Amino acid sequence: MGSRSEVTQLIEAMKIEKVVIPTQVSSYFGKNTFSEITMQKMVSQKTFKAFKAWQEDGVIITKDQADEIAHSMKEWAISHGATSYTHWFQPMTGLTAEKHDSFITISNTGSVIEKFSGNKLIQGEPDASSFPSGGIRATFEARGYTAWDPSSPAFITEVDNGKTLCIPTIFISYTGDALDKKLPLLRSESALSKAAVELLKLFEYDTRFVASTSGAEQEYFLIDEAYYRMRPDLLLTGRTLIGASSPKGQQLEDQYFGSIKERVLHYMHDVAVEAYNLGIPLTTKHNEVAPHQYEFAPIFEQSNLAADHNQLLMNIMKTIAHRHGLVCLLHEKPFAGVNGSGKHLNWSICDDKGNNLLNPGETPETNLIFLTVLCSVIYALYNNADLLRASVASAGNEHRLGANEAPPAIISVYLGEQLSKVISMIENGKIVEAKKQDLIDLGVKLLPKFIRDTTDRNRTSPFAFTGQKFEFRALGSAMNISTPIAVLNTIVADAFLIVTERIKEEHKTNSNFNSAVLKALSGVIKESRSVLFEGNNYSDEWVKEAQKRGLPNIASTPDALKAFVSPKAIDLFERHGVLTNVELKARYNIWLELYEKVIDIEARTLKEIVNTQILPAAYEYQSSVASGLDTLIDLSKNGAVKFSADIIEDRKEAFTTISEHIYYVRKNMKELENILNRSESMGLETKTAFFFSDLKPHMEHIRRHVDALENIMPDSIWHLPKYREMLFIS
Ligand code: ADP
Ligand code: MG
Repeated sequence: MGSRSEVTQLIEAMKIEKVVIPTQVSSYFGKNTFSEITMQKMVSQKTFKAFKAWQEDGVIITKDQADEIAHSMKEWAISHGATSYTHWFQPMTGLTAEKHDSFITISNTGSVIEKFSGNKLIQGEPDASSFPSGGIRATFEARGYTAWDPSSPAFITEVDNGKTLCIPTIFISYTGDALDKKLPLLRSESALSKAAVELLKLFEYDTRFVASTSGAEQEYFLIDEAYYRMRPDLLLTGRTLIGASSPKGQQLEDQYFGSIKERVLHYMHDVAVEAYNLGIPLTTKHNEVAPHQYEFAPIFEQSNLAADHNQLLMNIMKTIAHRHGLVCLLHEKPFAGVNGSGKHLNWSICDDKGNNLLNPGETPETNLIFLTVLCSVIYALYNNADLLRASVASAGNEHRLGANEAPPAIISVYLGEQLSKVISMIENGKIVEAKKQDLIDLGVKLLPKFIRDTTDRNRTSPFAFTGQKFEFRALGSAMNISTPIAVLNTIVADAFLIVTERIKEEHKTNSNFNSAVLKALSGVIKESRSVLFEGNNYSDEWVKEAQKRGLPNIASTPDALKAFVSPKAIDLFERHGVLTNVELKARYNIWLELYEKVIDIEARTLKEIVNTQILPAAYEYQSSVASGLDTLIDLSKNGAVKFSADIIEDRKEAFTTISEHIYYVRKNMKELENILNRSESMGLETKTAFFFSDLKPHMEHIRRHVDALENIMPDSIWHLPKYREMLFIS
């Protein structure tokens, strides 16, 4: 690896390989997945039926049927060149985990044969001890099991050393506790379905189940790998801990440049092909606000699948970037002063035929259902804003929430002008009469107009109704979407139960069902009114207003996470069978620990870079300024050259400036070390709170002075690639 300037030259000379644009996507979409269609062709009709019954109604298949499916899956995988298989799961940290096994077994005659049994398909036993359990698993009982999730199709991935059949699984402890992010999501789907079916029964709306649907818009940055390798902070923490902003930032909104544009397009193209092979329905969006920031958006799917696909997509994005000499940064805030990356979770609910329940209908009946579902979601948000905030709490996302670029840490709901009017009318009892025409007008006249109108979309709201789905915008780019979905599903399930009860209650005294519903909804809206906000969520006025309304505004991750272990939350998750008390506490611990580790690594990385790269260069510059000053003084003393005393004063000022920055860097660094030392004996809760209140501000102080140094020191002795290079060189 050469110096910064050598690397820059190397990058500029880089040649781009031309890629061939492939044929129609439909001709290869899902080619690397063991789809239902493939399975149906390969197993008996009876087995396939049993499989579907398992998927839809939870009736577990027999051992013989499992064997038959496993066999066909193996045959299919081998015919596609796979040599091994893995149970693919989503542990509590990191992206995804795998444990590879080969298909081969030794036969009775001693020869090697490829075999894959139903047992191996359905259950696996990875070495669980290396994954966090938050204390659920005592060390003497490190066993954890993976269990096949039949709702997500198996797929083949290719790495350098061959192809692997990946089987989506859940990860549980010996005692059946959830050790992953997927099981709670699946459980929350059941809870949502159960509650929704009850509610819909009141409307004589027949559906066997409901499911939530999700589409996660994924933001990311791309930078050249050569620069990445020269930045220990990016390598170790995923973000730049120091770095002066570029004179040119995102002001001009013109982040497209010649060759980088082409490289990025090729990259996006390759990601899309790989995603299509795996059955991920991607539509690409090209650029975002910040330089070198982009977005991938999928077509929405049932949440479980959408969550798996988003995890897979993040893996693909990272892997393919390397092939292009790029690095895909998924960190929420890789660069200070430049917009960070989030993930918009588009979420809705559909019935067993795929009808969207958040779509206003054309008849009074369907409109009433739409309004009831809508009001239930509003109520859920009002009642559990703290949980939703907690579901997006992470060290990385902490840089975004409330930082004037992402929705604030205050959870509120945006409905848009028309729908707000409708909601107010219901609230004030103006349409409680519920004449048929009123209800039709609500749907046909008002709402479709709202859907078409995209101009009044409020981009600052953390939770916005956007036509026929809600868009939860507070997720961080690196996050697994399972937890926010599981929380959303659970709180909405709970709201459904409450609204169901209220409608029943109202109907006892009000024989007109429609009026009874509207009356109940009026109460629900009155109660949850404070969570509705149509204005600018980034403004200071909103922060004050929200405080008046009593809405929580929690900036710190450790504080936000506490919501998961409140008695109210434990009761909620237990009642809906989504997470037990033990599982919640375990999760809380794991997330706190994760926060602690991330901040600790960042602080130590900062310390190392500053001590070994920044300060040595700064001393060098400081001496050269000092000796320049000496020379000036000598010259002036011996009278060889005549110049004004101001010139000496000016040089002294330069020396003072650099010396002061060095002094403050060191002063804060000593304090940072002191904080780290003091924190060592602290318990997890105290320590993480201390990190937020003391360690992080000190890191910021250090950064400020280092960045000031970067702006005055010679380019030639500054070793770290600069923002203007990483973000602007084409
Ligand atoms: P926007 O302009 O609000 O970003 P788009 O129409 O581009 O809206 O959709 C954004 C995302 O929302 C896409 O991923 C899309 O698939 C998803 N989406 C649309 N409808 C639904 C739905 N009913 N449930 C979940 N996600 C949805
Ligand atoms: Mg969007």
